[in-house]
Amino acid sequence: MNELIRCISCDEIFLRTPFDQWPEYESYPNGSLQSFRTIERDDFQNFLESHHGHRLEDLKILKDSFVSEKNYVEPVKISYFKATNGKESFVVKKFREKIDEPLKYQLIHGDYSLRCTNIEIQSKEVMKQLNAEFKTNPLHQNKIDAFVKLFQYIAKTIDIQKLERIPEESPNSLEIYYKIDDISLVYLLRNCRNIFKGQEYLNIEEFIHRHKDDGVLLLKATHKIQITEMAQSRKRVIAAQIRSEKGKIAAKG
Ligand SMILES: [Zn+2]
Repeated sequence: MNELIRCISCDEIFLRTPFDQWPEYESYPNGSLQSFRTIERDDFQNFLESHHGHRLEDLKILKDSFVSEKNYVEPVKISYFKATNGKESFVVKKFREKIDEPLKYQLIHGDYSLRCTNIEIQSKEVMKQLNAEFKTNPLHQNKIDAFVKLFQYIAKTIDIQKLERIPEESPNSLEIYYKIDDISLVYLLRNCRNIFKGQEYLNIEEFIHRHKDDGVLLLKATHKIQITEMAQSRKRVIAAQIRSEKGKIAAKG
């Protein structure tokens, strides 16, 4: 059996390997339920019991599809990952409302995409780096400001689709770093000739080449998670409603 199981009848899921939740989780070489340890054994047992006689299916988790609105290390956050049964696509919402609560998983029929909401240059880092590297022949502050302004202007007019993404791990999955494209680079260098002259220009040219691929001249693109929900079949919606009604009645009793 797979690690992510869906009850088709109720449209509920169970994740057998909750990744970051219990590091002591053990594999089960003989496939027997007895080899589960700790709390998941009971949870999975409960899941199987409450969905006894229902149609279950395995969902495949799409690797590298984890995204989160906050930094990876934040304990209270909403994350999403993609899964599929081979025919339909799903998004699994993983969340925890309080730090001492267990993680919850919710199945969404559909997909998500990342929409770029802002592209910016790393102004502070650029200024710091310029000051650090031009210590012996400091640049005039007006020139540093002009350079940052020029670079900002170029970043605003850039088409993110044409840029090369930097594969480096960012602590936030919604902040992606891109390398400036060749045309914008030429434009930047050409306009730098209006700000810097002679040796100063040559130094800036070197600075740009040193930092354009992995340093302070990378562009930072901020994204938003956009979830596209597919309409569920009526039968399933009704099944879920009946289930939630049953739950309410049980809770009252
Ligand atoms: Zn069920």
